[in-house]
Amino acid sequence: MATRAEREAAGLHGTASPVQCAECAELRRAQRAAVDGGDRALAVAATVAVRRHVRDAHHFPKGAAW
Ligand SMILES: [Zn+2]
Repeated sequence: MATRAEREAAGLHGTASPVQCAECAELRRAQRAAVDGGDRALAVAATVAVRRHVRDAHHFPKGAAW
């Protein structure tokens, strides 16, 4: 498994590890499914849902690079 530094280098900051968050996993799975399904509007909505959850649940600073 990647080290903490490697995870942070990959763009994962914050304290409440999004990597192990079940809701993150579910939202990202739904996002991937929407992207794979080719529905752009749905994919955008799913992406927004992921970002909103991450921001709200993991307290990423505004403008975090992802
Ligand atoms: Zn999460």
